[in-house]
Amino acid sequence: MTNELIGKRISVLDKGWIELVDLMPHPATGVSGDLAIVNAARTSFLGESKGDERDKKLLFYLLKNRHTSPFEMVEFKFRAHAPLVTWWQWVRHRTWNANAQSGRYTEFEENDFYVPDVWRRQSKDNKQASEGQIEPADDQYLTEQLLKHYDASYALYQDAIQRGVAREQARLFLPGFSVYYTWVMKVDAHNLMHFLRLRMAQDAQYEIRVYAQAIYNHFFKPALPWTAEAFEQFILAEG
Ligand SMILES: Cc1cc2nc3c(=O)[nH]c(=O)nc-3n(C[C@H](O)[C@H](O)[C@H](O)COP(=O)(O)OP(=O)(O)OC[C@H]3O[C@@H](n4cnc5c(N)ncnc54)[C@H](O)[C@@H]3O)c2cc1C
Repeated sequence: MTNELIGKRISVLDKGWIELVDLMPHPATGVSGDLAIVNAARTSFLGESKGDERDKKLLFYLLKNRHTSPFEMVEFKFRAHAPLVTWWQWVRHRTWNANAQSGRYTEFEENDFYVPDVWRRQSKDNKQASEGQIEPADDQYLTEQLLKHYDASYALYQDAIQRGVAREQARLFLPGFSVYYTWVMKVDAHNLMHFLRLRMAQDAQYEIRVYAQAIYNHFFKPALPWTAEAFEQFILAEG
């Protein structure tokens, strides 16, 4: 089951995606992630698996009591294509290891800019948040304006490059928050749960929430079914 997860790619937003590049323990070892956590915990007394029922019970005990270090024994490595507005928030999580595509080496491609499906209204009670949707007529108008802005920006970027300007400087013409970048990111299961709790929450911005939700549904849950169950019971349910 988990073997099929490696290399699996999930589409997110209009042009984004996330894929699992690697997993530790690797499925080829035959040791599941949940078992790796249990085995790590039993290292305290040099033991190992005692059968599914007792193993699962121990894993639940660990998470309930925030005995977190065994969960650091499982690692996920992702590659993701996301707009800068998402990365801007994602890379605040210092416990992830990251490597990014460089706009100094690579030229940005035309149309590789985020176009939202809908325009959300500014929230009345939360200065950071959005709610609902603006009027449909304005919605269409704003999308048209955004596309014009992207075309004009990209033309200026190309013009600068053709005039010999370095890529590192020509990118000043691009609409920063919208540009899609590719990153490779690695994190352990303990810190991934922390990220998921914060970034799947309703107060997280939609453009990062959809990546967090894709990680949870398509990679975390299938790779660590017991841990996901305990996470929902002891961490998500407690808010
Ligand atoms: C809804 C929402 C709104 C936000 N709004 C803003 C905002 O307006 N402005 C803003 O700047 N940020 C904002 N943030 C980002 C937030 O402040 C955190 O930087 C981000 O969520 C990363 O969380 P973290 O530090 O817990 O995660 P990580 O960096 O992954 O760290 C995980 C945990 O490790 C420990 N840790 C890691 N590094 C250190 C360290 N150097 N010292 C001590 N302990 C450490 C901490 O316990 C930490 O919780 C927002 C986040 C959310 C979810």
